[in-house]
Amino acid sequence: MQESKQCQNCKQNFTIESEDFDFYKKMEVPPPTFCPECRMQRRFAWRNERAFFRHKCAKTGKNIIAAFSPESGMTVYDRDEWWKDDWDPISYGREYNFEKPFFLQFKELLKTVPVPSVFNARTVNCFYTQHTGDFKNGYLVMASWGGEDVSYAARVQRSKDSMDVFVLINGEMCYECVGVSKSYKLFFSCNCDGCDNSYFLYNCKGCSSCVGCVNLRNKSYYIFNVPYSKEEYAAKVKELNLSSREGLHRVKEEFEKLKLHSIQKFANITNSANVTGDNISNCSNSRIMFDAGNGVKDCKYLQNALEMNDSYDGYGVGAGAELLYESFDTGVRGFRECFCGIVYGGIDIFYSYNCHNCKNCFGCANLQKKEYCILNKQYSKEEYEMLRAKIVSHMNMMPYIDTKGRIYKYGEFFPVEFSPFGYNKTVAQEYFPLTREEIKREGYVYEDDKERNYIITKAWSDLPDDISKVEDNITNEIIRCKHGGQCEHQCSTAFKIIPTELQFYRRFNLPIPELCPNCRHYERLKQRNPLKLWHRKCQCVGKTSENGVYTNTSRHQHGEESCPNEFETSYAPERPEIVYCEQCYQAEVM
Ligand SMILES: [Zn+2]
Ligand SMILES: [Zn+2]
Ligand SMILES: [Zn+2]
Ligand SMILES: [Zn+2]
Ligand SMILES: [Zn+2]
Repeated sequence: MQESKQCQNCKQNFTIESEDFDFYKKMEVPPPTFCPECRMQRRFAWRNERAFFRHKCAKTGKNIIAAFSPESGMTVYDRDEWWKDDWDPISYGREYNFEKPFFLQFKELLKTVPVPSVFNARTVNCFYTQHTGDFKNGYLVMASWGGEDVSYAARVQRSKDSMDVFVLINGEMCYECVGVSKSYKLFFSCNCDGCDNSYFLYNCKGCSSCVGCVNLRNKSYYIFNVPYSKEEYAAKVKELNLSSREGLHRVKEEFEKLKLHSIQKFANITNSANVTGDNISNCSNSRIMFDAGNGVKDCKYLQNALEMNDSYDGYGVGAGAELLYESFDTGVRGFRECFCGIVYGGIDIFYSYNCHNCKNCFGCANLQKKEYCILNKQYSKEEYEMLRAKIVSHMNMMPYIDTKGRIYKYGEFFPVEFSPFGYNKTVAQEYFPLTREEIKREGYVYEDDKERNYIITKAWSDLPDDISKVEDNITNEIIRCKHGGQCEHQCSTAFKIIPTELQFYRRFNLPIPELCPNCRHYERLKQRNPLKLWHRKCQCVGKTSENGVYTNTSRHQHGEESCPNEFETSYAPERPEIVYCEQCYQAEVM
């Protein structure tokens, strides 16, 4: 039994499969009324990873840096003050009001109960970090766990001494890398594993001293996939002039051409059985998953997930979670957590935000170690169960209806417009970018940047091209970003080079960038495929690729006939890349 439904938000049809109905039944929630993609966008709009604001601690009056803007109306405590037990979030509890939609009541509660300024754990000497833990010496590090001496980074795990990276696991001395693991001294590379001393590698494994290569395995001294002797290689690399932006630009252009003449594997899936999605390792029996690893099992629609089972719809979830649904940054030994954000170690938690080690809570915010609470008010077990049931039916009888007519009953995640963050400051902007006008038209909040009084002292075009020409006083300059705010990258319009950053560029002979940190992050995001799948056929037609650009180097299982294999891929059909199935890719790339 499957059912086609029209999404309330985008009006496109989406399918609910019979396995989905089983899951919703188990969770005691109605089937969703938003399509999977709109649900993802809505969750993302509740997470700000990159924006910081000057704020005042509502407890001490101290000036602090917070993830929440003063305009958000949130009551913000300095992170360390929040974790002290000299205040009681239960004192902000309120009676449920049957005259008002639940979502409006939750929105009011969320603004009143103090929230920590940032969501970090065990960070030492870290500045402008968010959703980060076990980190030392970090600067602008987001959503990362375990690292040291890292700047301008997102989604880093167990890495050191690196800058400008996105998804780096066990990396050291890496720069401008995306989706890289177990590598060191690797620059401008994407989807690589176990590589070192190289520039511009794509889909390479175990390579050392290579420049501008695609799909290589355990090779050394290759440039644009051509082998050289060690001496020839050294001379050639010198000619490429990689310490200048101009040199890098030329290599990048050539590298991009080579990528289009190479084959791509339909998806980056390793050591997994019966899964669809991209960037998946060690998972099983799961569908439409992006960035999932370490034993995700029987799950669907997860992004950025690990160690969990039997769950649907999550972003940044896992670390021991079961029966999780429509949540972000949630899990950590959690059981049955639905419509939650930043809920760790919870059991039977619904519609809650930033609650830790709680049980049986509904519509709560900023609690620790509580049980049987609704809107932060304490009840007995019997009272709780009775009231909870009444609220669920009240949510259906008196739903929240937004300005666009979207109806929020029990079973929907929190509306985007109730997020404590402007849409443009959240992860939603990274994957579903909207202009200021579009954000307002949707009825969401657009967070204006305060009048910036940067006194620009240098234009990006006046930066020295080669690192050897850069003087120490560059760290005093306020440099205008090349995008100058004319993009949808949360561009800060100007930026500075910090001293440790200059040291890094000099140590590895890298030119200084022309873009502000946010624009650099968005440019890195472009190197990855979208969080979306298309059903496609293998583009191997026997001896060559369908477009004739690539000639096979070995005989494939299907002989001279076209490969019959089909798959789900994050390469959209109109894209120019040549996409091969697992078997055809393996036959070519050993
Ligand atoms: Zn939709
Ligand atoms: Zn910028
Ligand atoms: Zn930009
Ligand atoms: Zn094939
Ligand atoms: Zn083939």
